[in-house]
Amino acid sequence: MSRTSSFSVDPARLDGVVQEPLFAAVAAEAAARGIPAFAIGGYVRDRLIGRPCKDIDFVVEGDGIAFAEAVAKRMKAEPVHVFKNFGTAMFMHGDVQVEFVGARKESYRRDSRKPEVEPGTIKDDQERRDFTINALAISLNAGSLGALVDPFGGILDLDRGLLRTPLDPDITFSDDPLRMLRAVRFANQLGFTIDPPTFDAIKRNAHRLEIISAERIHTELNKIIACARPSIGFNLLRDSGLLQEFFPEFVALSGAEEKYGIGHKDNFHHTLQVLDNVCAASDDLWLRWGAVLHDIAKPLTKRFHPGLGWTFHGHEDKGARMVPKIFRRLKLPLDEKMKFVQKLVALHLRPIALTKEEVTDSAVRRLLFDAGDDIDALMILCRADITSKNEKKKERYLRNYELVMQKLQDVEEKDRVRNFQPPVTGEDIMRAFGIPPCKLIGDIKTVIKDAILDGRIQNDRAQAWQLMLDTGRAMGAEPVAGMDRPD
Ligand code: ATP
Ligand code: MG
Repeated sequence: MSRTSSFSVDPARLDGVVQEPLFAAVAAEAAARGIPAFAIGGYVRDRLIGRPCKDIDFVVEGDGIAFAEAVAKRMKAEPVHVFKNFGTAMFMHGDVQVEFVGARKESYRRDSRKPEVEPGTIKDDQERRDFTINALAISLNAGSLGALVDPFGGILDLDRGLLRTPLDPDITFSDDPLRMLRAVRFANQLGFTIDPPTFDAIKRNAHRLEIISAERIHTELNKIIACARPSIGFNLLRDSGLLQEFFPEFVALSGAEEKYGIGHKDNFHHTLQVLDNVCAASDDLWLRWGAVLHDIAKPLTKRFHPGLGWTFHGHEDKGARMVPKIFRRLKLPLDEKMKFVQKLVALHLRPIALTKEEVTDSAVRRLLFDAGDDIDALMILCRADITSKNEKKKERYLRNYELVMQKLQDVEEKDRVRNFQPPVTGEDIMRAFGIPPCKLIGDIKTVIKDAILDGRIQNDRAQAWQLMLDTGRAMGAEPVAGMDRPD
């Protein structure tokens, strides 16, 4: 078992916690009411390993809402938001979100993740948590003030970097199958290992993800994609069987087929390498999604040609068409974020394809025109996509990549086509020829755009105007007197 975590546990990080105003106020309120109160969960975990955390959860053995209101009053905090259905209450303490809940005992039915809830003790509440490291609590009660309450050996697991459920993992995961995704997410975020019996239980229960909403699934998936090296999470997702439940297209990238001794690369591993590469260069979640999906249609476009080998013709276009289906199923946004991902998938081969032949100005202008403001993101994806194991090949691709980058810069400086604004507008054309809106206008605009992109004229109003006049005449339109020059 290897552990890649850069965190180490230090119980001394809890020193002085009960003197901090918020914790002191909770302790004072607990004493005043005579009911036990605890800080619990992610905050305690993160504090012990020195990881920043912006939300603090408290559990009280009693009415969490009334307790929250009393503490907020002591703290002179902002108004308390009450979530009656959940029995929770929260307020902001500076930029920290503070939440209170009454300790609960939960029992689940098989067909739903909606538990039957009844009041319970701190121990009951800790038992219903997902992992031992998330069940740690700090006592805010006289007699044990500041002591760690750790019935399941969470501190040891935190130290060993181990994700383990407090109860029998089959029960914990069956009660709320989302916890299986959380296991993978924490393993990835913290660099922890999933305890083998816990991992085996995930394999057994993976199919139960079916009762989890797409929103909750994509929230965890996005947290995995936001990690420094999401390949770790994706490998765990696949090996546990979870990925197949909600993203079978990605699993289908796995494997390297061979025919007559000719193989192709395993596109699952390749995609994850590209994703990790992109993550090293950018925090943009949607650019990262572009990496996830850039080769998604390879399994569907794969062909073997004797004498030629494997091809994946058209995988970029087919892949772009698959994006909306996948986004819709995962309930990811269908707005311009999705369009951005589609565009990256559709264009991901273009920059490198340019270097196959001589890199002409006009090909570079077309790329700039098509990519627009997304050219930088596209180039990050392209750079990340160079993963050849053959060092010579890789070097050549990288040199070509640099060449395209340079060329992009030169052409953009010269021709400004990145956010192409036609130098002659539809309005201009209508005035010049004294015509109403009609097809001719679009035709002339296309001729001008193509001439600029092909480098036959410059991106310049006078030259475009002249071409407009010539094109209109050739199509049988006569310019209005005095319109033979731009104003
Ligand atoms: P992060 O804030 O980084 O997502 P976290 O562990 O704080 O991590 P939250 O979703 O904020 O996660 O939840 C706070 C605590 O509530 C957790 O530490 C855990 O004890 C408990 N918890 C949250 N979701 C679940 C769940 N699905 N099953 C069991 N316990 C959970
Ligand atoms: Mg949290």
